[in-house]
Amino acid sequence: MSSTMTGFEGRVIRPPDADYEQARAVYNALIDRRPELIVRCAGPQDVAHAIALARERELPLAVRGGGHNGAGLGTCDGGLVIDLSAINRIDVDPAARTARVGGGCTLGELDRATHAHGLATPSGIISTTGVGGITLGGGLGYLTRSCGLSIDNLLAAEVVLANGEVVRASEDQHPDLFWALRGGGGNFGVVTAFEFRLHEVETVIAGPTFWPVELGAEVLSVYREFLPTAPRDLYGFFAFATVPPGDPFPAEIHLREVCGIVWHHRGSPEAAARDMAPLLDALPEPLLHGVQPVPHPAMQSAFDALYPEGDQWYWRADFVKEIPDAAVDLHARFGSELPTIKSTMHLYPIDGAAHDVASDDTAWGYRDATWATVYAGVDPDPANVDRIREWTVGYQEALHPYSAGGAYVNMMMEEGTDRVRASYRDNYDRLARVKAVYDPENTFRINQNIAPRS
Ligand SMILES: Cc1cc2nc3c(=O)[nH]c(=O)nc-3n(C[C@H](O)[C@H](O)[C@H](O)COP(=O)(O)OP(=O)(O)OC[C@H]3O[C@@H](n4cnc5c(N)ncnc54)[C@H](O)[C@@H]3O)c2cc1C
Repeated sequence: MSSTMTGFEGRVIRPPDADYEQARAVYNALIDRRPELIVRCAGPQDVAHAIALARERELPLAVRGGGHNGAGLGTCDGGLVIDLSAINRIDVDPAARTARVGGGCTLGELDRATHAHGLATPSGIISTTGVGGITLGGGLGYLTRSCGLSIDNLLAAEVVLANGEVVRASEDQHPDLFWALRGGGGNFGVVTAFEFRLHEVETVIAGPTFWPVELGAEVLSVYREFLPTAPRDLYGFFAFATVPPGDPFPAEIHLREVCGIVWHHRGSPEAAARDMAPLLDALPEPLLHGVQPVPHPAMQSAFDALYPEGDQWYWRADFVKEIPDAAVDLHARFGSELPTIKSTMHLYPIDGAAHDVASDDTAWGYRDATWATVYAGVDPDPANVDRIREWTVGYQEALHPYSAGGAYVNMMMEEGTDRVRASYRDNYDRLARVKAVYDPENTFRINQNIAPRS
């Protein structure tokens, strides 16, 4: 071990250790990497030690939050992984409606802590996802339309820089770094604490409405017109999916291929019914309308059982502004050819409060998009990897000509520099300059990488 680790309070896990196999595993079972050292840090000083060690020994350095990244950017082969999972303290200030959240927390930990005060901040739809990765990439979820992206609710971040310095980034302190952190991913340092603004969100009216997959074109045609005009309290992502074979779904629709909308409304049951009515009235009777009052964290974790860690995931993504008829037809075709029962396509709305922020106000450059499309081929069986990959790639390539060009970085695989540049568009050059100031040697390069350029 190195002298730079004096005072280290965390734990180092190496290949001979009994829990190495468990410690190296990430959420996506397609990713099978063997780091030389996994450094489970207890706080910012440990993180600084670990960065120094990786630099001294010239080891590749990966930073792991929740370990959910589809491309496996929270781990590496033969290098050092900074594992943040033990940095998971959460302090909620209900009067100020803010929370200080450890950089290794999961969304579930955050939701539980804030829900105790009837509060929440926008995040994603699976509770085991890391606050770190989702926030630094943007953060899309059920509260996007009413409260914005996760980054729109970020007030400050405690960051360990490549040189080991610990700084606070906010509108007033290191404002360029704060701008870059809001969408620029893990390129600029290791965030050991996030400070979020919270909103009153307690019981929500939420759940899915499903129609037979054969109605895909009709439902999508109505949805694409309806959703952007709906009140901000109503959120609904469109999906092609297969009904899981278990509770709470009625047995007669188990394993039915469906299209549908997963709803979330912040108001009363009456307000939710009123706001959904124009869409529901325009479509045939659904197979299931499972919308009901639920605690917000319950909705935030509603898909956890369907998607436990250890499945193979192949991801593709694109931002879209509009969904023309030709794209609707292609969606209807690929959506009815799901390769496995867990494979899915989602259209996540980006409008409402997410459009109150300009594309250059933060690093997240696609404020004029209306949806983030995600194509996810998913299956527990490694024998099906080729099938899920072929469907995902074929679907995305067919729809890409109708996209806005780039993609949400949190839902991409490793797709090369041009794709990263397209995903940051006009913000890319400024990001490269901020990178040159805060990480000139590209120490943090296991991410959707932005090369430093002065
Ligand atoms: C099942 C599933 C559902 C998802 N749902 C949503 C959703 O609803 N909305 C949405 O927006 N996204 C969603 N995502 C995508 C998710 O945002 C990304 O996978 C994200 O990268 C996960 O973050 P993580 O911390 O768990 O990942 P990790 O693999 O640990 O890290 C991902 C990247 O972030 C960096 N990173 C993580 N934490 C820190 C930190 N504290 N400081 C510096 N760098 C850090 C890592 O270095 C790495 O580059 C989902 C992903 C999955 C697998």
